[in-house]
Amino acid sequence: MQLKADAHFAQHLDASDPLNRFRREFLIPERAGKEQVYFLGNSLGLQPRRTKAAMQKVLDQWQHWGVEGFFMGAEPWLQYHDQLVQPLAAVVGALPQELVVMNSLTVNLHLLLVSFYQPKGKRNKILCEAKAFPSDQYLLETHVRQRGLNPEDIIIEVQPRNGETHIRTADILAAINNHRDELALVFWGGVNYYTGQLFDMRAITAAGKAAGSLVGFDLAHAAGNVPLELHRWNVDFASWCSYKYLNSGPGAIGGAYVHERYHHDPNLQRFAGWWGYQKETRFLMQKGFVPITAAEGWQLSTPSPILYAAHQAALDLFAEAGMEAILEKGKSLSDYLLYLLEVTGVLASGKLQVLTPMDAKGCQVSLLIPSTGKAVFQQLTDAGIFADWREPDVIRVAPVPLYNTYSEVWHFCQVLKEALSV
Ligand SMILES: *Cc1c(COP(=O)(O)O)cnc(C)c1O
Repeated sequence: MQLKADAHFAQHLDASDPLNRFRREFLIPERAGKEQVYFLGNSLGLQPRRTKAAMQKVLDQWQHWGVEGFFMGAEPWLQYHDQLVQPLAAVVGALPQELVVMNSLTVNLHLLLVSFYQPKGKRNKILCEAKAFPSDQYLLETHVRQRGLNPEDIIIEVQPRNGETHIRTADILAAINNHRDELALVFWGGVNYYTGQLFDMRAITAAGKAAGSLVGFDLAHAAGNVPLELHRWNVDFASWCSYKYLNSGPGAIGGAYVHERYHHDPNLQRFAGWWGYQKETRFLMQKGFVPITAAEGWQLSTPSPILYAAHQAALDLFAEAGMEAILEKGKSLSDYLLYLLEVTGVLASGKLQVLTPMDAKGCQVSLLIPSTGKAVFQQLTDAGIFADWREPDVIRVAPVPLYNTYSEVWHFCQVLKEALSV
């Protein structure tokens, strides 16, 4: 389609958007009665209108049944997990039994590393991206140290080339190949939180597996944002949080994936708890851990049905909208944003640099604005636009497919152009 850079055309895109009805499913933040432009769905997704009722249902069941709510009522809490993995399977491209909804992201990654970081002799290295999200850096550093190893000997980081802002796929694959005899684990992000770069997870997995390594991903910025085929790509494990693109609320319950080939492996190390014990005999409370032969076998503790309910409400919207339509619109929104920056002369002005690769991204676009960045950010805020400021000079914006519009993207570019005096 031939894009145009006027407000009418943005309205036309909104009118013909097959997902436009989903905006009304969300509570949009307002100031003085005016809906704000919320481009922070990569940080905390907005609240679906139906979340409150879903959570209230759990409270009502608790009121009515007490602990019997695990077994009784319209939606017994014990079976709730099965309802979640069905819609989630479509979001991350996995078999339902390869998924478990539990804990939160960093906790899950530690638990998964217990199973999937198994250093043996000189095959003890972990390959990862330089400048990963801080929690991932701390995770690897402390996990490795806890095994009695020195992080400096173990962790190999791959960087962008000098003067470049993102990491070339060829450099990642070359690093895997160069260390092919020493890799225990390739651990990577799906989408970098800072630059918005979408990594080629399929190629990274194939190269890692060919090198005899295990391969796992942190999908915090990928789940619900970019195409994922974890099972088909043969990924060993992954985890994500549900409060960013998945709109399941602050501190939402996280998710994890474990390839089915590990579900029956009795030799795999893990940290266990009673909630991972096989369901038929869990409540006999016997000695000796017998895991559920599914990703659920990695659960430790009693989950919160209140958090399940918030997750379910959000996942239902993903199922109703359909992953294909969601991914298509997400890409189309960020493409439109980049198109507008180009045709309005903002890019050519040299006052701003796009950190996000044009051809490898989801919804998020990261803009580097040297010197005037903070002032520009303030003007965006004053104009009712929620964006994200990263010291010292980066503004991240994420127009998301379920509740953002092309008109909002157009408005954002107008305000940005003015703020930059282009
Ligand atoms: C948001 C994010 C996290 C946050 O982890 P929590 O354990 O959910 O607080 C971790 N890693 C990445 C890459 C993230 O983007």
